[in-house]
Amino acid sequence: MNYSIALVPGDGIGPDVVAQATEVLDIVGDKFGHVFNYVELEAGGCAIDHTGTPLPPETLEAAKQCDALLLGAVGGPQWETLPGNLRPERALLDLRAGLGVYANLRPAMLLPQLRFACPLKDDVLAMGDYRGSPSDNSQVTGGFDLLIVRELTGGIYFGKRGRSDGGNSAFDTESYSQEEIERVLRIAYAAAEVRRKKLCMVDKANILESSRLWRELTEALSREYPHIETSFMYVDNCAMQLVRSPGRFDVIVTSNLFGDILSDEAAALTGSIGMLASASLGVPASKGFSSSAQKGGRGIYEPIHGSAPDIAGRDIANPLATILSAALMLRYSFGLEKEALAVEAAVNAALDRGLRTADIADRRGNAGTEKIVGTREMGKAVVSALLSEE
Ligand code: NAD
Repeated sequence: MNYSIALVPGDGIGPDVVAQATEVLDIVGDKFGHVFNYVELEAGGCAIDHTGTPLPPETLEAAKQCDALLLGAVGGPQWETLPGNLRPERALLDLRAGLGVYANLRPAMLLPQLRFACPLKDDVLAMGDYRGSPSDNSQVTGGFDLLIVRELTGGIYFGKRGRSDGGNSAFDTESYSQEEIERVLRIAYAAAEVRRKKLCMVDKANILESSRLWRELTEALSREYPHIETSFMYVDNCAMQLVRSPGRFDVIVTSNLFGDILSDEAAALTGSIGMLASASLGVPASKGFSSSAQKGGRGIYEPIHGSAPDIAGRDIANPLATILSAALMLRYSFGLEKEALAVEAAVNAALDRGLRTADIADRRGNAGTEKIVGTREMGKAVVSALLSEE
C-alpha cells in the first residue's frame, strides 16, 4: 500500500531527528511491502525566513493532501522577539486547526533500560497490573505503559474569559459541547482497543457541571464498548495515583486543562524528554482504527520536545521520540499495528545493546555497559535492529 507523508522538519534539531525517522520508515516499507512517499514542507522559523510567515498557505494545502504529517520541532531564539502571530509556534496552532485535529495522544512508559531516570521507587513501580510489554526482554516486573488522551481544542483554554471590577476580577470558562466530548471519547476508546482495553475518564464531576456531562457521555458510550473496562476518577486522585501506582492505568481520557497537567506529570515519570512521542488526531474513529490510511483524518505526529537550539546540528540529539512518533503514525493513521510494534521493538533492541544518546545516559557512575552515540548512530542502530527482527 502507498502512503503519503507530509514531512515538516522545522527548526533546530527538527531536521536531524526527522531524517532518522524517515530512514526507519523506509526500512519498514521495504520489510512489510509498503511505500511511503514524503512531501517535504516548510513551517516554523525556516518558513518565516523564506516566506515571512510561520505557516505558508502552500504548506497547509499540501499537508491536507497527505495521509499524515510528521513534524520535528519549530522555534528558536532568533524568532523570539517577533509578535505572537508571526512566531514559529503559531505554525503548530494553525496546522492543528487546519488539519482538524482535536485529540492529543501522549504515551508514557517506563523503559526498563531507563529505569534509573524514573523518580519512582521500585515498590511503587511494582504496583498496578502492568507487567511489561511483550517486546520487553528484561526481567523487570511492574512499571507502567499508559496513554493520555487529551482534548485539544476546547474547554477553558478556548472559553470566554475576561476582566471585570476595573481589572480586579478575572474569569475563564470551561465549556464543552456533547459533540466535542464524544469525538475525543471515541478516539480514546479506539486507542484502548489496540492496547490493554482499559479506559479511565478523569474529571472533577463532584464539583464541575462540564465534568458531569463528560461522565454522562462516557457512561453512555461505554455501552458500545462492553469489552473495554471503563472507570472514572477525579483529577486530584489521578494526579496522586500517577505517582503512587502508575501501572494501574492504560488509557486516560480527559479535558484540555486536566490533560495538559497530567500529561506533563506522566512525562516526568519516564525521565527523558528525548524519548516521548505524541499524536494529534481528528479522525472520528468509530470502532478501532482503520486498516488503511484514513483520508480526511490526517494525524500530526511529533516528539514532545522542542527544537533544542542548544544542540542543533551537532549530531547529539536523541532521535527516538521522533522515531516512536513515526510508530504512532503507523498505528493510528495507517492501522499498521504489526509495523508499529516492530519499530517499538527495534528501539528497545537498540537500548538493550546499551546504546544511549547523551540525554539518556546514566550519569550515576554505574553505566558500565553503555555506549554514548550520536543522532545518526542511534538511528542506524534502530534500522539494523529492524532488519534483524524475525
Ligand atoms: P526544548 O524541548 O527544545 O529543550 C529543552 C532541553 O531538552 C534542552 O536542554 C535540549 O537540549 C533538551 N532536548 C530537547 N530535545 C532533545 C532531544 N531530542 N535530545 C536531546 N536533548 C533534547 O525546549 P526549550 O529549550 O524550552 O525550547 C526551545 C525552542 O523550541 C523554543 O523556541 C520553543 O518555543 C520551541 N518549542 C517547540 C515545540 C514544538 O515544536 N512542538 C515544543 C516545545 C518548545
